[in-house]
Amino acid sequence: MDRRSVLKVLGTASLAVLSGSWLARPAFAKGEKAVEELQKNWKTLLADGADVASGAGPLKLSNDEWRKRLSPQAYDVLRKEGTERAGSSPLDHEKRPGVFACAGCSLPLFTSAMKFDSGTGWPSFFTTIPDAVQTSRDFKLIFPRTEYHCARCGGHQGHLFEDGPEPTGLRYCNNGVALRFIPKTNKT
Ligand SMILES: [Zn+2]
Repeated sequence: MDRRSVLKVLGTASLAVLSGSWLARPAFAKGEKAVEELQKNWKTLLADGADVASGAGPLKLSNDEWRKRLSPQAYDVLRKEGTERAGSSPLDHEKRPGVFACAGCSLPLFTSAMKFDSGTGWPSFFTTIPDAVQTSRDFKLIFPRTEYHCARCGGHQGHLFEDGPEPTGLRYCNNGVALRFIPKTNKT
């Protein structure tokens, strides 16, 4: 191939790239950056002196101990992978700045900046605090779903769907009863 042919091929290739999804890429990358910032700076939404777990070490308790610690509704969701009734949680409409921690062990999972109104009746988030949740597949319904749980105590939080808003496209559909909201009341 001579030099002119190489240039021609390169030109065609870059045209193909430009006309494809590449053009949408810079905006998406900017969004990704914004999500990274939200994750990195999550503590700016944590109230001073808030009683939360540092994430150090897993918390393992017996079923009896969990039953004593949790309300029957929270026990059903966190330890039995139950699902609360849609629209039953006041946290669905919680709009104040703050942090959402696991109701089982107080590990911070989400911030108010990661929340969006999905219209489903469950508190919904498009990303999480880094390393706060882990996922697994469940087959409780006919189709497989991605279940996610607190990385510290293993408490079930909700299911992960891929119909969330840009830039992540993710929807963490969370049971409100599995969360404790800590408002950041001390604005500086
Ligand atoms: Zn937990």
